[in-house]
Amino acid sequence: TVTTNKTDHGGDVRLSGISKTYGSFTAVHPLDLTVPHGSFFALLGASGCGKTTTLRMIAGLEEPSSGSVFLGDQEVTSLPPYKRPVNTVFQSYALFPHLDIFENVAFGLRRRGIKSVKKQVEEMLDLVQLGEQSRKKPHQLSGGQQQRVAVARALINTPRVLLLDEPLGALDLKLRRQMQLELKRIQTEVGITFIHVTHDQEEAMTMADTVAVMNAGRVEQLGSPTDLYENPHTTFVANFLGTSNLIEAEVDTKTGDDIVLKAGGGKLVLPEARCSAPTTTGGKVLVGVRPEKISLTHADDAGEIPEGRNRITGKIASGSFIGVSTQYVIDSAVCPEFEVYVQNVDRDTRLVPGADVVLHWSPAHTFGLDAAQS
Ligand code: ATP
Repeated sequence: TVTTNKTDHGGDVRLSGISKTYGSFTAVHPLDLTVPHGSFFALLGASGCGKTTTLRMIAGLEEPSSGSVFLGDQEVTSLPPYKRPVNTVFQSYALFPHLDIFENVAFGLRRRGIKSVKKQVEEMLDLVQLGEQSRKKPHQLSGGQQQRVAVARALINTPRVLLLDEPLGALDLKLRRQMQLELKRIQTEVGITFIHVTHDQEEAMTMADTVAVMNAGRVEQLGSPTDLYENPHTTFVANFLGTSNLIEAEVDTKTGDDIVLKAGGGKLVLPEARCSAPTTTGGKVLVGVRPEKISLTHADDAGEIPEGRNRITGKIASGSFIGVSTQYVIDSAVCPEFEVYVQNVDRDTRLVPGADVVLHWSPAHTFGLDAAQS
């Protein structure tokens, strides 16, 4: 759960069984989702997975085919967008080109007939660090600055929820990274719920407290960035967030809280709590481990590897030095058509292509996926 010490701005966003179909095509399957009040929530997934449709149903820009949308205790399913306490920031910014920055931000207040807007607009411009730019026109600002104007213009309406639809999509990589931190800072400062749509896993991981990974119209897994990274439940999540090594294995026995699996000629150990596959004997499991959790040892030194580590043998296929780490590709009999990437090893001149090696890692850094489901 996500906690916040901010004042209550109206509670959680709750989606209850909402779905969206276009003719015979289902863009979003019935979805139950709670976005805790005050959290930074990301909907993450590849193009076409239904994340924008989900966001648009929260905004009221798209009518759900079934289900209900609640903001706090209020059901808003049939309210038009402008009656919902929600604002959306789009990738295109949609600023008014003929108005200066001050007037762009003041727009929502003026429309509501508020006369003295100066103090509020200045506060908002300070929040997004554009106090100095208030008399410029949008075309005189950089992409990142324009994006911040769009955020200020939405926030001045004091929405309970800010929806962000790929807001950084038009920016170059460096600016994107800066704006990710900037948006995170703004969200922490104002304390309202941000729901952010992105296809960029790093972006979601950097910014969000909670990430919903979507695939083909469904949420595959919901969790904190570390949770999703360290304990993915499906091959899709394991591969979408970073690199995973997946080894085909079969359940052999259980010892205490661990499962022992057969893989090739050897065995691997996995905490049962970290296995999302059935753990009956003979069951097929994909055993996963993240590249940076693996240690690489020359076969001559294998005697020094501590007991209780998962280990597989192989040969180095290639190695590339990438500054802080070296990335190795290993050919292993345990997974013949499989390559293992290993990072963060000390430089050892014997670790050259063709060398016999042992890969080893802690069972605690191992996860198990359902092979039947992938
Ligand atoms: P992207 O990042 O490309 O916007 P997305 O995950 O946000 O992808 P959606 O825009 O939610 O995906 O679309 C989900 C699916 O619904 C897509 O396959 C899309 O083609 C389809 N879709 C969206 N709007 C319509 C529509 N008005 N009519 C028919 N199909 C639609």
